[in-house]
Amino acid sequence: MPDGGMETAELDKAHLWHPFTPMGDWCARGHEPLVIARGEGAYLFDDRGRRYLDGNSSIWTNIHGHRHPAIDAAVRAQLDEVAHCSFLGTTNAPAAELAAALAALFPSNTLERVFLSDDGSTAVECALKMALQFFQLTGEPGRRGFVSFEGAYHGDTLGAAALGGIPLFHGRFDGLGVPVRRVASVAGLDGVEPGAVAAVVIEPLVQGAAGMRLWPAGTLRDLRAWCDRNGALLVLDEVMTGFGRTGRMFACEHEGVTPDLMALAKGLTGGYLPLAATLTTRRIYEAFLGGRERAFYYGHSYSGNPLGCAAALANLRVFEDEKTLAALPAKIEHLRRGLDALDAAHPGRIAEVRQCGMIAGVELAGGDGTLGARACTAARRHGLLTRPVLDTVVFMPPLCTTPEQIDEGLRALGAALDEVRL
Ligand SMILES: *Cc1c(COP(=O)(O)O)cnc(C)c1O
Repeated sequence: MPDGGMETAELDKAHLWHPFTPMGDWCARGHEPLVIARGEGAYLFDDRGRRYLDGNSSIWTNIHGHRHPAIDAAVRAQLDEVAHCSFLGTTNAPAAELAAALAALFPSNTLERVFLSDDGSTAVECALKMALQFFQLTGEPGRRGFVSFEGAYHGDTLGAAALGGIPLFHGRFDGLGVPVRRVASVAGLDGVEPGAVAAVVIEPLVQGAAGMRLWPAGTLRDLRAWCDRNGALLVLDEVMTGFGRTGRMFACEHEGVTPDLMALAKGLTGGYLPLAATLTTRRIYEAFLGGRERAFYYGHSYSGNPLGCAAALANLRVFEDEKTLAALPAKIEHLRRGLDALDAAHPGRIAEVRQCGMIAGVELAGGDGTLGARACTAARRHGLLTRPVLDTVVFMPPLCTTPEQIDEGLRALGAALDEVRL
């Protein structure tokens, strides 16, 4: 089908509405949408056979690469059993095994309960509702507000978006979701009336959508202490940082902190299928016991989806079989050296390089808010596919990316910087 790509682009422009996209620009005559046809390991291929390094892990989801044989096989095997059945009033083996496997990733007697949903936003939404209902059930109904941070991103459903602190994304809906007090840093908590706080919500170690902004060391420990002192819950949104991205399985391990609630999604299925989990402690779970009036009335049609759970189990097995975490320190160090070299080779062009494990943000100097996008478009011509956050170019390829492929990606980014000017 020689003009199959053409047809896709036409149908797309006629009928689709893309996320986070000014659609007038997308549909403009001069814009040729990139049509992705297939993937293999750290690479994606377009409909003309051109190859791209998946430089942002398909918006922070992919972990072990595309078409990983073990995850492919697990999903296929589950397809031969059943693709989906309702989780209301039934259970299934992949979901039960996944819950046990997730709980086993945390210190015993901590995050031992797993509530399944569909994506990062619903995992966060669910954590918010659990926190609110927990305090209603335990005699503190006045705790109905949340603390979140400037620059935060927790998803786009109304509750999750209410936490968000990125004006372009969230400003329009300010005050229309749950009550939220946004602070700039841990120090900002001094001005917060603690008795009204249900939970403090944070992206641990690094704020993703803010442009890979790193928190000062000790932030999580300080938040844990504040929450404990003031009787509030700590919610960690590891939707982006989870599953090895920071060099440890979960970002919170870097500070030895366990939260009361944790949201997981994106990398949970290795980047294969939409599945999310909200993990919590026995203390919170047990408050919901004791009959219909106390139960958690929340769920989605695809909760516990067996295909997603099978992919997630396979994702965890690959971590063990391929010793993914053990291979990371060398790759992270390689990435660090590569980023330093990129910076040195482009004097005056890079304002700041931020790195946390396999996550990097390269903030371009003198940007006008469009420089990052133009750099990404140029990088595409050199075989690197990624997206910017304003003038910060994100580089966070899948964990399976080899040192040679990291070099390849950074070379493409360097070539893009040479081409793009203000
Ligand atoms: C992407 C993201 C979300 C939202 O997840 P979706 O699956 O896109 O709904 C929430 N929190 C963080 C930290 C994220 O990076």
